[in-house]
Amino acid sequence: MSSNVPVVIAGSGPVGSLMALYLAQRDIAVVLLEKEPELPVDLRASTFHPPSLEMIADLGFGVIEEMLEKGLKADRYQYRDRRSNAVASFDMSLLEGETRFPFRLQLEQYEFTRIVNDKLAALPHADVRFAHAVTGFTQTDDYVDVEVATPSGEQVIRADFLVSAEGARSCIRKLANIDYMGFTYDEKFLVISTDFPFEEVFDDLSWVNYVSDPEEWCVILRTEKIWRVLFPTTPETAADEQRLLSDEFIQERLHHLWDKEGDYPIGHRTLYNVNQRVAETYYQGRVLLAGDACHINNPLGGMGMNGGLHDGNNLAAKLARIINDGEAHTPLFEHYNRQRRDLAVRFVQEHTIANKKLMEASDEETQVARQKMLMETAADAGKARAFLLERAMINCVRDSEALA
Ligand SMILES: Cc1cc2nc3c(=O)[nH]c(=O)nc-3n(C[C@H](O)[C@H](O)[C@H](O)COP(=O)(O)OP(=O)(O)OC[C@H]3O[C@@H](n4cnc5c(N)ncnc54)[C@H](O)[C@@H]3O)c2cc1C
Repeated sequence: MSSNVPVVIAGSGPVGSLMALYLAQRDIAVVLLEKEPELPVDLRASTFHPPSLEMIADLGFGVIEEMLEKGLKADRYQYRDRRSNAVASFDMSLLEGETRFPFRLQLEQYEFTRIVNDKLAALPHADVRFAHAVTGFTQTDDYVDVEVATPSGEQVIRADFLVSAEGARSCIRKLANIDYMGFTYDEKFLVISTDFPFEEVFDDLSWVNYVSDPEEWCVILRTEKIWRVLFPTTPETAADEQRLLSDEFIQERLHHLWDKEGDYPIGHRTLYNVNQRVAETYYQGRVLLAGDACHINNPLGGMGMNGGLHDGNNLAAKLARIINDGEAHTPLFEHYNRQRRDLAVRFVQEHTIANKKLMEASDEETQVARQKMLMETAADAGKARAFLLERAMINCVRDSEALA
């Protein structure tokens, strides 16, 4: 029996938190290191797809119950055409029988990490340390020495395995010289939150809406707290962040969406780069990558955090088999790489790139054909079900789990 800590996880975002709970619950000692002094609260993912909800439900501990109580159930979502006012509405109840959760749950990701971290605090096998940043590591065939900057100076923790759930800027991935292949789009995305009641001005608006428009597409979605609108910006204006984040620009965009009297109340505003990137491998020896540390994509379809949760669940199950059942680690890590990198990420990258192309096509002919295709698909129960099985990530999780 080794005296090393079995698992050290860097990063208490959604992926690191989920993994820590999975392992601690199976009596595996886990140290979860978070560089920030407390859990970050920022406007990021807000959609939980059905397979993620199932994995979270299987964790137990009342996490799913708290999420369902706090979140907003989106039992349909829409593709709306501003020019013709046509609406293709996808009814998620068509997924009944395929999943225990035939809806998207709209809930800020920081609410999820808060709920999970509250549970971790009560588990003897979970050791969560804030203001602890992983700064380096060295590994041998038998262990990993994890270097950590703490408020009381540098520390080294010897672990059997180190997981980077540090997000897109993972220092562990960089130190391991693992390439993060892909590209960054020329334009940025602008996300604005407002408590203006869009549901009162747009007819029959659902909680998640992809809106096409001859001049500018956008996504309007409701979290459990507030409406959020996502606009693309143009590559030409990308450098002028001050203007893109100005009241004047934001009010203009929102008034273009709905020309109300007076200014919109604005909550948060965030401008961010949009990437499509995948790490060349998800593991190196005893060091593993999960979540944004090994893949990022544009947010259309809400697949980033969800894909990361699916990585975390898959990897935690394998670590439990290695630590509790004595299985060899390399074949299981190879399997993780095949299931999650080769298959699941290919799916997410293809879908998110296609979703963006679908939204941004601006010539009239393509817009009309796109809306027609979506309306026909939504109106046919068989086609709509097949569409939802893909978009709700049910197929990709099934295919990934089935891969030997
Ligand atoms: C504006 C925006 C909108 C988004 N919208 C969506 C959406 O609608 N749907 C969706 O599915 N996804 C969305 N995403 C993506 C989603 O937020 C990410 O996929 C998700 O946060 C990834 O989770 P993670 O746990 O891998 O990483 P993160 O959430 O980035 O968490 C990483 C954690 O690691 C910590 N950390 C970093 N380095 C270290 C270190 N060296 N040592 C210790 N701790 C460290 C960080 O402080 C952080 O707490 C969005 C992202 C952005 C930026």
